[in-house]
Amino acid sequence: MKTKIIATIGPSSDTPEKMKDLLNSGVSVFRLNFSHGNAGKFESIVKDIRRVEKELQKPVTIMQDLAGPKIRIGDLVDPVTFRAGDFALLGPKAPAKPGEVSWIPFTDNKILDNMEVGDRLVLADGTLQLMVREKRADGLFALEAQNSGIVTSRKGLALPGKSVKVPALTEKDKQDLRDGLRLGVDAAALSFVQTPEDILEAKEIIRSQGRNIPVVAKLERQNAVDRLEDILKVADVIMVARGDLGIECPLPSLPGIQKRIIRACNRAGKPVIVATQMLLSMVGSPSPTRAETTDVANAVLDGADCVMLSEETAMGSFPVETVRFMRWITGEAETLMAERKINLNLPEADNAPEFLSYSACLLADKSASVALVAHSMSGAAARGLSARKPIQPIYALTPVPAVVRYLNFSWGVIPVLADEGRKGHLERVEDFVDSFSGFKKGDQVVITAGQPHAGEETTGTNLVKIYRK
Ligand code: ATP
Ligand code: MG
Ligand code: MG
Repeated sequence: MKTKIIATIGPSSDTPEKMKDLLNSGVSVFRLNFSHGNAGKFESIVKDIRRVEKELQKPVTIMQDLAGPKIRIGDLVDPVTFRAGDFALLGPKAPAKPGEVSWIPFTDNKILDNMEVGDRLVLADGTLQLMVREKRADGLFALEAQNSGIVTSRKGLALPGKSVKVPALTEKDKQDLRDGLRLGVDAAALSFVQTPEDILEAKEIIRSQGRNIPVVAKLERQNAVDRLEDILKVADVIMVARGDLGIECPLPSLPGIQKRIIRACNRAGKPVIVATQMLLSMVGSPSPTRAETTDVANAVLDGADCVMLSEETAMGSFPVETVRFMRWITGEAETLMAERKINLNLPEADNAPEFLSYSACLLADKSASVALVAHSMSGAAARGLSARKPIQPIYALTPVPAVVRYLNFSWGVIPVLADEGRKGHLERVEDFVDSFSGFKKGDQVVITAGQPHAGEETTGTNLVKIYRK
């Protein structure tokens, strides 16, 4: 039960009974996709989730997913059928000589200004690829189809690898984010992030509403992947959003991109989600394919913190069965990780906090401890332990409720709201170990905590200790 499961809520899962079943089957985070609904629609769902959360007495994280600037073509009078080698004209105004070739209306000036002869253009979720062959004097672009396919109105359009300077946050997203905060979401995911500034802009809105929730950067553009290190400095969680990323980048490069992103996130101590088509065939079938099963297991072995379900739980016929299957697959993969001691394969450490988490994990292994127990204000200490994939569970104590819900994204972490009755962080942890029924007398745990100086409220982790109950 170490890998976290994220389930998208939709018509197949939006009743309290279904939510309860999903949580009992292993879901930690619910995703609400604001591409397919607004605050009005999600308000009652959020209330239901909170009711169920109270009933089950375990923290549930609600992640709002913002639509972002998805680019689409305009309305076509009739669908356009292409065979490889066919030409079409794309642009804002119909050609003067109608009927010459098909016209695809498209009015986004930012994209048109950036478009050049030789660019590759992808329509309808990657099903049709076109090359830009000519920029005409009348402002239209002549496109040549690379394969056959049919295009209907308002299909998505993408220019793979092309840096189009559109901010990730649209006006609608900004409004949705404010609405989401009002409803009480615990995390916000930004689609089509390209730069660190995209994330800082969302954080500014969150701060202006008096809140502090983690921002999830959805990596679905090549230039976001290119700027991963900078994005990692400001993002709180990363999502490998393989749907739109698989349109931008050649599909065969996707496995490598996934692995590199996960590795970088593990090194930075930031949780990482692998998303899209994980168990897609379970939308209509009670069991997955071999390839899907292997894909989920490999994401865990790569070091993913979370695996995500989209259509499967939003509109599939077997939402609960899908989560159960996913839990089963991740459990088997975790057993293999423990066998292979994948836990200590990150480099030893670069700095003091990394060295503390590294040595805590090592100590837990060498001292036959049953758990790691971390106290921290931001949750960073627990995330540092989690990134090393220890065999032992990580109990993460924090007095901050928002941090409890942030820690639901971290592999192997069981977040616990700390009892503030005791002032010292170490005493709080020892009290927890003494009173928690999951530990027997004589059990040994490894504790990490910060010991503030007198008069100081917070500090980084500066203590690692073996403690016997
Ligand atoms: P994204 O690029 O953000 O993943 P998407 O269109 O792929 O957008 P998902 O959240 O992945 O959307 O969900 C997959 C499908 O499930 C959607 O295309 C939609 O048909 C359906 N769906 C998801 N959420 C809802 C919802 N709240 N209400 C109705 N249908 C939904
Ligand atoms: Mg997407
Ligand atoms: Mg999707």
